[in-house]
Amino acid sequence: RAKQAGRSELRCFSQEAGAGTAGPSARELRLRGALERGDLTLRYQPQFEVRGGRIMAAEALLRWTDAELGAVPPDQFIPLAEDSGLIVPIGAWVLEEACRQLARWRAQGWAGRMAVNVSPVQLAQPDLVEQVLGTLARCGLRGEDLELEITERAVLQDAQRASGGLARLRAAGVRIAVDDFGMGHAALLYLLAFPVDVLKIDRRFVQGALDRDHERQVVQALVAFARALNLDMVAEGVETEAQRALMEELGVGLVQGYLLGRPVPAQRLGELLASAQSSAQSSGHPAGLPL
Ligand code: C2E
Ligand code: MG
Ligand code: MG
Ligand code: MG
Repeated sequence: RAKQAGRSELRCFSQEAGAGTAGPSARELRLRGALERGDLTLRYQPQFEVRGGRIMAAEALLRWTDAELGAVPPDQFIPLAEDSGLIVPIGAWVLEEACRQLARWRAQGWAGRMAVNVSPVQLAQPDLVEQVLGTLARCGLRGEDLELEITERAVLQDAQRASGGLARLRAAGVRIAVDDFGMGHAALLYLLAFPVDVLKIDRRFVQGALDRDHERQVVQALVAFARALNLDMVAEGVETEAQRALMEELGVGLVQGYLLGRPVPAQRLGELLASAQSSAQSSGHPAGLPL
């Protein structure tokens, strides 16, 4: 195994860093040390009210920049972290870091929520509930301040086991969002028995809805479904004003995407929140959610 790792590391060094072709073992070795080296950081992407443009929440998105491999995209290193179990300590760090950041923004007067992605591997940890509640308490936050994003895949795979812990978190006020929604059909049935507050429509449907009947009908059906179950909806990957307007027309409440804001470092989003707040104050409208 060590030999194998050594070989793929050599292969990796002989190629462009970050080219995406290095063997997984080399990456795993680097990822193991990433937390301690401080190579993991969070970006924050705002979620906006579809009309009115208030920032209601921020999603924490993990970034890994390695000295040798360069910037590795989450779609590549998250699966590696899941397979190796590294997602457990990494996910705990993400939660703590995101909650501490929200506490700072709270102190500055922003009333929005923090959304954190949670892997199915984390959901399977028996102490996840204690970990989340402990983090909230340490940061002086309430359950209502946090939204956990789980993938539709996780709902399907492990509905029964995961839903017990999620139900306890939800009882403490934590909001549960289903990410990338619309990709798997059976989930509609599972969702009826799952503790959920928010559906995040996958960007494939959001972006396809303008041009294709099929995607548009999927979004319409999901909106009807969400209404019937009293769930909030977020449209992911909104890149154009036409897409935003269509989401508003179809009745989706929140939008997230490059049109309105890319994932940015905490300081940048903090500046945005502050300027939104001062312009709301001078126009007499309250900024963000009421506390
Ligand atoms: P996700 O949770 O669905 O996050 C949304 C992804 O879409 C992000 O990719 C974001 O940068 C990207 N995005 C946002 N707006 C737009 C847009 O308008 N157009 C396009 N084309 N893309 C947009 P990112 O940051 O590369 O993350 C990819 C995935 O990695 C995430 O998908 C999530 O599943 C996972 N991930 C990221 N951070 C974490 C984490 O801390 N923990 C876990 N378990 N997974 C994470
Ligand atoms: Mg997400
Ligand atoms: Mg996702
Ligand atoms: Mg998503």
